[in-house]
This record gives sequence, structure tokens and C-alpha cells, in this order.
Amino acid sequence: MIELDRFYIDGKWRTAQSSARHTLVNASTEEPYGSVALGDERDTQAAVAAARAAFPAWAATDPATRIAFVEKMREIHLDRTDEMASAISREMGAPIDLARKSQAAAGPRHMTNFLAAMRGFDFVRPLGDHAPGDRLSWEPIGVAALITPWNWPISQIALKVVAALLAGCTVVLKPSEFAPLSATVFANIVDAAGLPPGVFNLIHGDGMGVGTWLSTHPDVDMVSFTGSTRAGIAVSKSAADTLKRVALELGGKGANLIFADADDMAVERGVRQCFNNSGQSCNAPTRMLVERPVYERAVETAAAVARSIEVGPSDQPGPHIGPVISARQYERIQSLIDRGVAEGARLVAGGPGRAPGFNRGYFVQPTVFADVSNDMTIAREEIFGPVLSIIPFESEEEAVRIANDTPYGLTNYVQSESVERRQRLARRLHSGMVEMNGQPRGAGSPFGGVKGSGRAREGGRFGIEEFMDVKAISGWV
Ligand code: NAD
Repeated sequence: MIELDRFYIDGKWRTAQSSARHTLVNASTEEPYGSVALGDERDTQAAVAAARAAFPAWAATDPATRIAFVEKMREIHLDRTDEMASAISREMGAPIDLARKSQAAAGPRHMTNFLAAMRGFDFVRPLGDHAPGDRLSWEPIGVAALITPWNWPISQIALKVVAALLAGCTVVLKPSEFAPLSATVFANIVDAAGLPPGVFNLIHGDGMGVGTWLSTHPDVDMVSFTGSTRAGIAVSKSAADTLKRVALELGGKGANLIFADADDMAVERGVRQCFNNSGQSCNAPTRMLVERPVYERAVETAAAVARSIEVGPSDQPGPHIGPVISARQYERIQSLIDRGVAEGARLVAGGPGRAPGFNRGYFVQPTVFADVSNDMTIAREEIFGPVLSIIPFESEEEAVRIANDTPYGLTNYVQSESVERRQRLARRLHSGMVEMNGQPRGAGSPFGGVKGSGRAREGGRFGIEEFMDVKAISGWV
């Protein structure tokens, strides 16, 4: 059994003052495998005090010093890829190959991209030729509280921690109580890189406890939060009285617009992307909108692809999808599948109940609904499981209307060979990101949304600037 009862505060591992514990459960077997301490107000206070004390000296470091620390962290992270992958696979159920190739690899990848952005970063920039004596100075905001989810645990942690450290902030990280193992490995990486005490602090805890104490704390200047829209609203309210900056990366319900002139792989690509990580990605294309002339063929293809996707335990090598995170999430997905059937959607693959071959573990069947209308519950709510909704459309105008008719606005997708159409749609879709024809966004492209998906921007230069204030100066020369 693993007992995580220490927090990394002021450069040392310290035993939690709180006696509360959260039980860790293996999603593939439903067996408990350990526990993590849930910090209390005293633990939170100690972590914030350490970050506050370390801030002036860290903010004053030369950017080259901060770059050197992150380069070291990156090297150590790469050396510990296997350890990190096992931690992630164990805590959130990702199949081990996905955990190694995608989940664990995200940490060093984000570090590489941030380092490139930081090398070209001008901390002092001119306002413009019309005001030769004016300068804009980018300055670290102060102590940043970083609250992260379990679904891409190291990706989320690296996006926040590395950007904040490079900006010159000191941090208190509170990872998800469901994914404390990878965060602990990460803290050991930071420790091995030799960061000055107090610059990086890790405290385990839940949302109602540490999450709320950090959001309300007067010595915290910013909360950067990734998680559900529900919790993002709670964080905003908690942070309001102290007027701290709040950056929110929240849920999504992405539309994938597939036109009759899309390439042959468009449907299969969309299904696989939706089911990747067992459907537990905020940017999953969960609403597949298909133009009427190719609709029935797309439904058949999507159903066939879903049936071909294997479901298996997290420790088994291979390209299968794993279980979902918890019993609670499994039950929620089941009830949403039932709602889809009850509201009249046509079930063409998967459906209620455990994936065949399992009598335990949180294994959801890869499920596809056709003839979904955009007002059904399965089209409106973020399901966070391997469930795809296919919706027909007659015209480009209707496709845009359906795509934008959602409380969310994270990533939308377009599949069409027409450049004119793609450029038109990219501007009309109301989301922080639009990905077209399977082209991944480039390194340093800002990740973030609009509306119920929050309005933070993470990654590259935008992600570093998120942790900074802009000071306007006149009379510089
Ligand atoms: P969650 O909201 O339950 O928890 C996220 C984190 O917030 C955890 O650390 C949790 O302890 C903490 N928390 C919960 N309630 C809180 C509160 N009231 N105050 C402060 N902290 C609180 O989400 P989850 O289940 O861990 O993650 C899944 C959600 O995250 C999905 O909705 C997904 O779309 C979203 N997500 C968004 C992005 C993005 O970049 N937009 C990326 C990954 C995940």
C-alpha cells in the first residue's frame, strides 16, 4: 500500500498536519492501493508562507537562471519517464503505453516549448513609435496557486508550474486528490533540479479544503485552475474577495464538422480522437456533425471503428482504451447513456453496462449514438467517457449554428477539402481553438477556451504571460 502523507514545502518533505486521508483505488480492479493525505488550513498556510517568502529573490533572478533550472528539470523528467508513466497509469487508469507515449511525454514536451518561448521573451517592450519614451514591462504576478485535474495530470501540472516559474512566480501546486502519484514524482524532479526552497511547493488535498483555502488566501496573487466548470465557478467566487487573478481552463463539448468533401479518414480520426484517454479529455470532439449526403456512411464507419476499439486494463501494453477514473464517474456515464436511449437517440455501438469480458473495473463500452439532436442531454453535457454523439446537418449555416449552440467553447474541428470553407468556419466557430483536417496545432499555440470552457491561455509565450502583470511606464528615455 502507498501512503502519501507528506507535502513538499520550503524545499523539504514535511509530514501532513492534517489526519484526513483520501483512499486511492485502482480503476481496473476496484481494489484500494493506498491513501493520500488531505491537507488542512495549517498545511495550506505553511505552503503559502514558504512561497511568499521565496518570491522576492526568485522574481529577481536573471531569466537565464530560471531557464537553466527548467532545462535541468526537463533532463531529469526524461530520465524518469518510466517511473512517471507507471505513476500516471496506476493513479488514473491510462493504459501503460498511452501513459508513457502521451501522458508522461507531455511534461518534457511542454518544457521544451516553454524554453523556446522564454528564450525570445522580451520583458521590456516599446509601446510604439508614437510614444518613444514609453515602455511596457512584464513582471511576475507573485504567488500562484495551481489547481489541477486528474485526466492529463502531468500535462496540466507542467503547463502551469513551468510557465509560472519561468515568469518569476513562486507556486503552490494542489494536484487532484485522484492523481497524487505523478505529482509526487514531479515534486521529486523539481527537488532533484535544486530549485531554491519555497519556490515550488506541493500540497495534496481536495477542492473543499486546500482548493478553497488557496482560492481565498490573501497572500495568493493568482489561482490558475484546470477542472470542471462547476469547480471553476466556485474558485472564481472564492477568489473574488481578495481580487486575485483567476485563470480558468474548464470543460468542453467540441463539435467536429464533417463535410461531404472531407478526406476519407475524417470519420475514423474523429472517433479515435473522441475515445482517446477513454474519452476523458476536455478537448475531445464529442459531437460529430455530419453533412447529410455522407451521414449514413459516416454513422456506419463510426460504429465499426467503435466496435474495433479494445477495452483493457491499465497495466496491459497495447493501443486499447482503459477504464474511466472512478465508480462515481462510471455511474454518471452509465446514466447519461441511459438518458441518450430514453431521449430517442439511435444507439449504433456500445451502450449501457460494463465492456464485455469484465465483471469489475470501471470499463465503459465505446459507445456511439446517431440521430442525436443538439438539445438532448448527451449533446449538451460533458460526459467525460467514451461516448460519441452524431448529429446530421443540411447546410454550412446550420452546422455553425449547432456547433455554437453549447455552453462550452474549447476546441471545434472542421473536416473539408475546401480552403475557403475552412477559413470561413475557423472565424465563425465560437471557441478558443479550431483544428482542421487533423492538423495538430503547432508548438507554442495557446490552449484555452471561451464561455463555459474558461478563458485561460496555456502553453508557449501566452502561457508565460498569463502569470505576469503588464506595467506601463513613461519617461524611460
Ligand atoms: P474537478 O473540477 O472535480 O477537479 C479539478 C481540481 O479542482 C482538483 O484538484 C479538485 O480537487 C479541485 N477542486 C474541486 N472543487 C474545487 C473547489 N470548489 N475549489 C477549489 N478547487 C476545487 O475536475 P476533474 O474531475 O479533476 O477534471 C475533469 C474536468 O477538468 C473536466 O470537466 C475537464 O473538461 C476539465 N479539464 C479541462 C482542461 C482544459 O484545459 N480546459 C484540461 C483538462 C481537464
